[in-house]
Order: sequence, then structure tokens, then C-alpha cells
Amino acid sequence: MKDPIGTRDIGPRVGTPLWLYMVGATAAGAFLLGVSVLGLGPDQLFLHAREPLVWVMLCMVVLGELRPIAMPGQAPGSGAPTSLPFTFALVIFYGLPIAALVQCTATVVAGVVRTHAAHRTAFNAAQYVLSLGVADAVLRLVMPGIITTPGVPVGGEIAAVALAGAASFTVNRILVLCAVAMHERVPLRQVMFKGLRQQILVSMVLLSLAPLIVIAMTHSVLYVPLFALPLGALYTSSLLLVKRDHQANHDELTGLANRKLLTVRSRREIVRAHQNGARVGLLLLDLDRFKEVNDTLGHPTGDRLLQTLAHRLTHSVRPNDLVSRLGGDEFAILLPQVRDTESAREVALRLRGALAEPVRLDGMDFDLQVSTGIALYPDDATDFESLMQRADVAMYVAKSDRTGVESYDPGKDRNSTARLSMYSELRRGLAEGALEMRYQPKIGLADGLPVGFEALARWRHPARGLLTPDEFLPVIEHSNLFRAFTAQVLDITLARSARWHAEGLSLPVSVNLGVRELLCPDLPETVAAALREHGVAAERLVLEVGEQTLIADPEAATAAVERLRGLGVGLALDDFGTGHFTLAQLVGLPLDEVKIHESFTARLADGDSHGHTVVRASITLVRALGMRATAEGVSTAPLAEAARESGCHAAQGHHFAAPMDPREVLPWWSAHGTENSTRSQ
Ligand code: C2E
Ligand code: CA
Ligand code: CA
Repeated sequence: MKDPIGTRDIGPRVGTPLWLYMVGATAAGAFLLGVSVLGLGPDQLFLHAREPLVWVMLCMVVLGELRPIAMPGQAPGSGAPTSLPFTFALVIFYGLPIAALVQCTATVVAGVVRTHAAHRTAFNAAQYVLSLGVADAVLRLVMPGIITTPGVPVGGEIAAVALAGAASFTVNRILVLCAVAMHERVPLRQVMFKGLRQQILVSMVLLSLAPLIVIAMTHSVLYVPLFALPLGALYTSSLLLVKRDHQANHDELTGLANRKLLTVRSRREIVRAHQNGARVGLLLLDLDRFKEVNDTLGHPTGDRLLQTLAHRLTHSVRPNDLVSRLGGDEFAILLPQVRDTESAREVALRLRGALAEPVRLDGMDFDLQVSTGIALYPDDATDFESLMQRADVAMYVAKSDRTGVESYDPGKDRNSTARLSMYSELRRGLAEGALEMRYQPKIGLADGLPVGFEALARWRHPARGLLTPDEFLPVIEHSNLFRAFTAQVLDITLARSARWHAEGLSLPVSVNLGVRELLCPDLPETVAAALREHGVAAERLVLEVGEQTLIADPEAATAAVERLRGLGVGLALDDFGTGHFTLAQLVGLPLDEVKIHESFTARLADGDSHGHTVVRASITLVRALGMRATAEGVSTAPLAEAARESGCHAAQGHHFAAPMDPREVLPWWSAHGTENSTRSQ
């Protein structure tokens, strides 16, 4: 039997249907209690009150009332109470009046212990009296003998007990669920079948004990407390079960629902909305700059901040809405019933307001902002995955436009829509391992042997095949994905490098860094951690930094390069000759290598032109600064020869080898590079 009015204790407003219903049910229960007790008469009542058995039973019922069987997905304390078999035994043994009085007493005690409001306790007691009344009536009707001569039911009477149990269960459930449906303002059928099988099963187990308790009652009062043992075991194992179920569906840190639960609930709500022609809203929230808090104040502080925010979020939505944490600083909120985009927007703004209040931790105030994306079923998408994707796209817009809250807008021009959907595809791709690396050898021009490899990213798109960086890098660079991207590039490349090393190939591998990656304060730590994790020596990794990066913010970039230098990794300037990077700027930088961009390299083949002279002079200066020059985009033999003759140490390009699938590298190296690799060890 279930506690009807959720966890809120504000009584229903006077005159509402729920109020009328509760008043009606309470009055009916009180009336039945009154009539049956009067029917028993004061003498009988007094007699029973002197029986120790009644008092022992009262104790068991009170205890049982406080120890309900927990069930997954239900509010704590709302499951079938373990008092059920005792109350039922009382109906069989003494009839309704005693059973009802004992049950009401226990309900009042439990109500006081749980600090429930009086109206709620009264309703609970009344619905018990009514359902026990039905059980009593069934027993009287089917097996008049049981009630007239209280005692042990025998043989066929067990069937009567079962029937009474079923009737009582049904009435109890209907009484309670009507209240729940009115309280949650949903149709009765929506709550009717929720957990029905479990409820029936548990009630059957509990009620089956009732006849055994009756047998014990007739033998000795001392047998009755023994039933506390199996019931206690049932109670504790139900708690364990619920705990395990909770762990599987909730986030450990915040206690919020996890992605799994969100998915299940959303799918269910979408089906329901489809049937009712209603709407479902999905909000995706991402904290702005949370990473900084984590990095500067440490994870424990970051964790507490997330907990505070989770608490605020749950207290700013309606009980039926589902707040979930998707990981990191990302939250999703499911609005099972939402009128339109505007009302979803209101919720988003309310949440934003709730989170905007500074959080005080370790004596410091934190101001946190969130970006929220909104998508609606069926307006924006018709299944959960697409709904998430649309909300994600909207969030991306909210973040990049700094508007805070955005709803999905397909009306944007096609170009940006394509970009937006690419963003969320990429995001999913990164999580699902769609990022791959290709490796292009760098050839030493003195002896034609490989001196290293450059790792180049590819993205395996589910529909468009293998994409090159020019198709996806801009989206990565302009979104919050670049961190995850760099981390994965490093992870994949260094794992590969470690395998090669085990096979005897120990040439350094170069990894490219984008503008934002280089200026990211935690980059050195990310790199160091990746090296550690894969057991790769720092000198076997080279980081390539684009010329554009150094021009954008020379001071910060120089500082970043110096910090990377401290790790012991090699550093290269990429795409030299594309921007306006001057040779003078090159002087102060701790670089090992300068990679001459293919457009610059191409001029080397121009014979005695002016361009040729400039490039040659640049290479000379690079060498004079103690750096190596690598010619990029060397696609023909004459170009390779020109590069060598101009003083380049190494070259890279289709003339030697195109970027290769990782599986091709070792065979290629066996054919082209073994001699060099033995020399380099
Ligand atoms: P990049 O660092 O200059 O890389 C060299 C590019 O030239 C590669 O293009 C390579 O496939 C291409 N290439 C190789 N040989 C030849 C040749 O003989 N002729 C010509 N015309 N091109 C040649 P890809 O792989 O498409 O990469 C393009 C750019 O994307 C890279 O330019 C790099 O800036 C960026 N990139 C690639 N992978 C990553 C990465 O993992 N992280 C970051 N941040 N950027 C990356
Ligand atoms: Ca490069
Ligand atoms: Ca380059």
C-alpha cells in the first residue's frame, strides 16, 4: 500500500477536486471506523484491550508501518508496509474494528515520526480502513464462518483469504492512485500501471504470511514477533535492491539521474506525448568556464560546486521534470509536459537565474553562467537522439553567441545549419571513437631515410566517409570541443608511438596544435599526462605550432611554447611563410624545427626568381639559428632536390609518401627506413 501524496506536504487547496476527494475519502474512512467500532460495543473493546496479543500485534503493525518494502523508481517510504500481513491477520482473527483501530494507531504514529501533515495522515488512515473494510466484507460474504468464530482459516477458507487480499489490494490502489493522479494532474491510466507487477508481487508475498500469523496467534503470542525476522530480511534486501537500482541510474557525485535514466524516461515521455498529442521539452545546460574552477582550485572544489548546482537545479523544476547529469559540467533537463517553446524558455531562464546566484566555497564566491539549448518534441525532432542533437546545437549557438539561452532554430541559413549539425556530429563522433590518425613520414634529405612522422587527423563521418581536417577543424576550433579533440589526438598518436617503439620503430612523431590549444593553460599537463600514460619519452614527441598561432598573441604564445619546452618535447613552427611572421620573431623562440609551407616551398622550383631567393635566405637563417628546416608539400623529385640544395634538412610530401593508415606504417618503414632507425637508436 502506497503513500499517496508524494513528498510534498502542502495540502490541496480548498475546493479543488483533490481536496474534495481527500475530504470525501477521509470522511468515508472515519464513518466506517466509527460504525464498526460502535458495532463491536464498548464491552468487547475493553476485553480486547486487555489481551496482550492485541498489544503485541499493535507493536508489529507500528514497526511494519515504519519499514515499508522499498521499490525501484518509487519515493522512499511509499512501498507496501511490512505491517500488511499483521493487519490482515487481525482482520481474519478479530474482524474489522480491531484491525482498523490498530492500523489507524500505527498510521498516526508513522505520520508523527515522518512529520507528515495531519491531512495526509488522516487520508492514509482512512484509505487503510476502507480497504480493510473491503477485505472484511469479502471474508464475511464468502466464508461467514471465519468472522463469526475468529480463528484459523482452514482448507478452502484460504481461497477466501486470497480473494479478500486481492479485493483489499485493488481498493487500496485505486484510492491512492486517484489521489496521485489528481495531485500530478495526469490521467489515472498514466499512473495506474506504474510498477503494478512489482506491487502485486510484494503484496502477495506479504499477504501470504497473514494466515501463518493467524496460526501463530492461536498458539502463542510469543510466536508473533518471530515474523519480524523474515519480514526484516525482506525489508533489507528490498533496500539493497533499490540502492543498486539507484546506482545504475544515477550519477554518483550529484545523485542526479544519469544519461541512461534520461534516455529511458525521455523515450517513454515521447511515446506518451505522441499518444496525447502533447509536447516534450529537452534542455541542455553547459557551464561556462567550469574548467577554470577545476583547474585552479582542484577537483574537490569543482565537485562541491557541481553538487551545489545540482541541488539548485533540482529545486528549480517541477517534481515531474527530470534533472540529469550527462558528465563533466553538462546537465540535461527533461520537461515531460511543456506547452510550447516559450514556456520551455521560461524554465531555462528560471534555471539560469537559480544558478546565477554566487556560490560560496572555501570563503570564495563563484559566479557561474550556463548556456542552455532547448529542443522540443515533436517540433524539432521526433526521437530522443535527434532531440538531444538539436538541443546540443542550440546550446552551441547559445555559447558561441553568448546569449545564454537558445531554442533550436532550423530557420538559420543552410551553411550555418550544416555547421551546427556538424558540431554535434563531431561531438558524438569524438565520444564514439570516430577520430582516426594518419601518419606521413618526414624524409631526411641527406640520405633519403625517414626522420619522423607527422600525425594528421581524420574523422570518419557516418555518412560522408573519411573527412580531412579542412572540413572539420574550423568547427572544432570555434567550439568547446578542441580540448577533447587534442586529448584524443595525443592519446591515439602516443598509443601508436608506443606500439611502434615496441616493434623497433622509435622515430619521433609530430602532433599539430591549433591556436586555442596552445593557449590553453592546462596543455602542458595534458601533454605530460598523455606521455606518462603511454610511457612515451618526451623527445619522441614533437608539437607543431602554426605560424598564425604565434602571430595572434605573440606574448602568450611564447610563454606557452616555453612551458612546453620544459617538458622536453620537440617543438616545430608549422606553415612558415603563410602569415606575416618575420624572421626577427623567430629569433627568441625555443624551436627545433621550422616547417616551410608548401606555397613557400613551391617557389624553390622557380629557378632564379626573387621568390626563390627569399626562401633560400629564410632557410639559411633558420639554420643559422640552430633550427632544422623541413620543406612541406614536396610532391615532385625536382622539388625535393631543390629543397635539399637550398639547405633543408628534411622534406615531407607526396613525392615520398602520402599520409598512411597506421597499419601501413611498419611495412613501409621496413621497406624504406630500417637502416636509419638502427642508426638513430
Ligand atoms: P599541415 O600541418 O601543414 O599538414 C600537412 C598537410 O599537407 C596535410 O593535410 C597533408 O596531407 C598535406 N600534404 C602532404 N603531402 C602533400 C603534398 O605533397 N602536397 C600537398 N598539397 N599537400 C600535402 P591534412 O592532413 O589535410 O591536414 C591539413 C591541416 O590540418 C594540417 O596542415 C594541420 O594544420 C591540420 N591538422 C591536421 N591534423 C591535425 C591535428 O591533429 N590537430 C590540429 N590542431 N590540426 C591538425
Ligand atoms: Ca603540421
Ligand atoms: Ca604545415
